[in-house]
Amino acid sequence: VRFIRRLPKAELHAHLNGSIPLAILQELAQSYSPPSADGQIGVSNDTVQAGLEKLRNGVTIEAIGDFFGLFPAIYALTSTPEAIARATRGVLDAFFQVDDGDEEPECTYLELRTTPRSTETMSREVYLRTVLSVTSSYSHSLPPLPESIAHGSTRRRISVIASLDRRMSVEVMEEIVDIAIRLKDEGLGLAGVDLCGDPNKGNVEEWKHIFEKARIGGLGITLHIAETLENSPEETLKLLSYKPDRLGHATFLDEEARKIVMENQTCIEICLTSNLLCKTATDLDSHHIRHWLKQQHPLAICTDDILPFRNSLTAEYALLFAKQPLGLGLTEDEVRTIAEMSLDSRFLD
Ligand code: 5GP
Repeated sequence: VRFIRRLPKAELHAHLNGSIPLAILQELAQSYSPPSADGQIGVSNDTVQAGLEKLRNGVTIEAIGDFFGLFPAIYALTSTPEAIARATRGVLDAFFQVDDGDEEPECTYLELRTTPRSTETMSREVYLRTVLSVTSSYSHSLPPLPESIAHGSTRRRISVIASLDRRMSVEVMEEIVDIAIRLKDEGLGLAGVDLCGDPNKGNVEEWKHIFEKARIGGLGITLHIAETLENSPEETLKLLSYKPDRLGHATFLDEEARKIVMENQTCIEICLTSNLLCKTATDLDSHHIRHWLKQQHPLAICTDDILPFRNSLTAEYALLFAKQPLGLGLTEDEVRTIAEMSLDSRFLD
């Protein structure tokens, strides 16, 4: 554990609302009142409590679709600027607080991604500004990055990625990209955009221009891709034509897609525990990380959603080390190289 903690590394694939410590959600639930006024469909207190109960007892996911059912209860609790600010601070503590006995925090650098929501009390822009104001001040409260890995910005230890959910309309996605470009230009640490959400929803034919605009606007692009067997090879090729800088999961790439990813040296964000619990991978031995390790392809080891998966970045790295069949049985040098790759794959200004 000491070796893993000391290793400089970047967490590049963590979803804000999937990474809130349970204690913070419970705290937010105490002051929750369902928005029942003027015909708005709110989430009832019972639904919120049932969601918390599931998270408390440990989530069983039979298929990846079940996983997305966890979010309405979480979202109900993070639907005001105050609540999303509190939740963000909680997530940052989970990644950066140094507990007694630990010499270093979970990660050296964090790119936290989140889907800007508009609610009764905030617009999508207010949502993003709220998250960015917390991440910026938190980033400045941390010790500066060593010059050797800072790439010119020693004070920036946290960036934000705006996620576009596959269930959104094209108009809403366009709105978010416009806001994201503006916030990036203000130097608030907004570094990129992501495509996320239920992999079986939405139409990839409609989104290319949106990601093109993001790229021209100077944002990094990461896409959840080929997450399930239902994602067709044609869909995957279409997403690759958006020219992403990184890929989330990329579990079911066929030969043609793998070749493109290899040629472009596109970093793959690997979330081992998430894949095992969502049953998109049966075990570590057959996990696609094995293929990419053989190719010495750029990878980043990530947590995805520490709230339901109850994992940590340290635990994900421990899986690299642990002897087979519990882990991948890699050497310290191999793990060090992977950690360096994660830092090299950051979205920098
Ligand atoms: P948020 O973006 O609201 O901060 O974080 C939660 C959201 O992230 C979920 O509603 C979902 O859209 C997305 N998300 C979290 N984990 C995954 C994942 O493993 N796969 C996909 N496709 N989306 C995810």
